[in-house]
Amino acid sequence: MEYIGDVFYEYGGGLYANITNKCPDRCEFCIRYMVDSLGGADSLWLRREPTMDEIMELLDEWDLNRFEELVFCGYGEPTERLEELIATAKHAKSVCPSLKVRLNTNGLSDLINGRDTLPELSQVLDRISVSLNAKGPEEYLALCHPRFGIGAYDAMLDFTRRAKECIPDVTMSVVSGSIPYQDIEPCRRIAEEDIGVKFRVR
Ligand code: SF4
Repeated sequence: MEYIGDVFYEYGGGLYANITNKCPDRCEFCIRYMVDSLGGADSLWLRREPTMDEIMELLDEWDLNRFEELVFCGYGEPTERLEELIATAKHAKSVCPSLKVRLNTNGLSDLINGRDTLPELSQVLDRISVSLNAKGPEEYLALCHPRFGIGAYDAMLDFTRRAKECIPDVTMSVVSGSIPYQDIEPCRRIAEEDIGVKFRVR
């Protein structure tokens, strides 16, 4: 297979899956607009989207027993390739049952796929980290420019609330430096008190 970019890469002790460059957001702080790669990757910009077969073939090149976690994260929103994400996670767990699977997401999977995607996601995910990014819909719209418009923020909160019911470990995060310092505490309250999940400042 020709090199199309790094679909899998090693980072901080985890194996990261970069299965798509598609994303419905255009966050002003997005690292993909600043650097071309992270960790052990050469380029996270994919020359084209990998097929399901290519993803599986590339995954099989790695010794999964070396890793504690498989993390879906990259220069795109992983749930844009929901079917491939689920199949990849299932395959990885069948090869290495002790492997934990985490999804780093913008929480817009249901809007992207036009249905409730948590029944499928919860079958394979041990952990999920949802980017909260802002203290309200208007701030989110101004910072992340979702193609779904102002309703994206509430959809993301609703997704996370339901994720808490079916995925063991749920975190919401904000990026320090991308939001006003005084907005961090309101974001923490939304995550910890309103939604009832962990909160992390990245
Ligand atoms: S959701 Fe993630 S990948 Fe998409 S623009 Fe925002 S930071 Fe970048």
